[in-house]
Amino acid sequence: MMPNSGARRRFSIAGALQLWFKLAVMLRLIELFNSVQGEGSHAGLPCSFVRLATCNLRCVYCDTPHSFGDGEPHDVSTIVERVAALGSKHVCVTGGEPMLQREGCISLMTALLERGHTVLLETHGAVSLEGVPDAVVRIMDVKTPDGLGFDANSTKFKRIHFDYTNLERLKPHDEVKFVLMGRRDYEWARAFVAEHRLMGRVRHVLFSPSFHDLPAKDLVDWILEDRLPVRLNLQTHKYIWGPDVQGV
Ligand code: SF4
Repeated sequence: MMPNSGARRRFSIAGALQLWFKLAVMLRLIELFNSVQGEGSHAGLPCSFVRLATCNLRCVYCDTPHSFGDGEPHDVSTIVERVAALGSKHVCVTGGEPMLQREGCISLMTALLERGHTVLLETHGAVSLEGVPDAVVRIMDVKTPDGLGFDANSTKFKRIHFDYTNLERLKPHDEVKFVLMGRRDYEWARAFVAEHRLMGRVRHVLFSPSFHDLPAKDLVDWILEDRLPVRLNLQTHKYIWGPDVQGV
């Protein structure tokens, strides 16, 4: 049965209000810029980066400590318009940890998808990814013991490094990344990949050498020795602009 015109009107007003509330949600923004994606399977593609504020972790190698601050409040619609003005199809929502601003982050990603963007979410996966739209490509950067500066068996590491419920939320188009400080991290990541059967579950498992700590050649040797079907992930933006340049 078709709804009558009154019901249709009520429905469209409710829909419009819902959309307005979604777009009016505030996000704390650190920076928004155009560049090329430096990592993962989208490396080399033009991409707009939306860097959201704050992070609850403190990785030893963190290259974005400027994201730890409060940022500037922006509503979702303003960010969507600024992204549109940059003209890239791909948009990477990153941080800090973007999912610490759960409601706004989900509204932003939903609005960007509705505008036809391909949306990548860079997350450490230590907070729940519940509610992230299925079409978003999750790039989940699982934190290793040496990356966080803890013993692998310590209670604190086990408590903070990862929300294991997120493994069930991974989609076949997603990517899981490990940034490795050295051999101990490599062995830990290798065991994690096997234990949680990551190969075949996501599009790519990425092993990335921490830029200042692990020579890429050593990592390549280990991957080949072990015949691991993981993908070497280099942060190409650091080779183009240098390791300490921000906003590129
Ligand atoms: S999760 Fe990312 S932003 Fe947070 S401390 Fe680690 S590297 Fe830095």
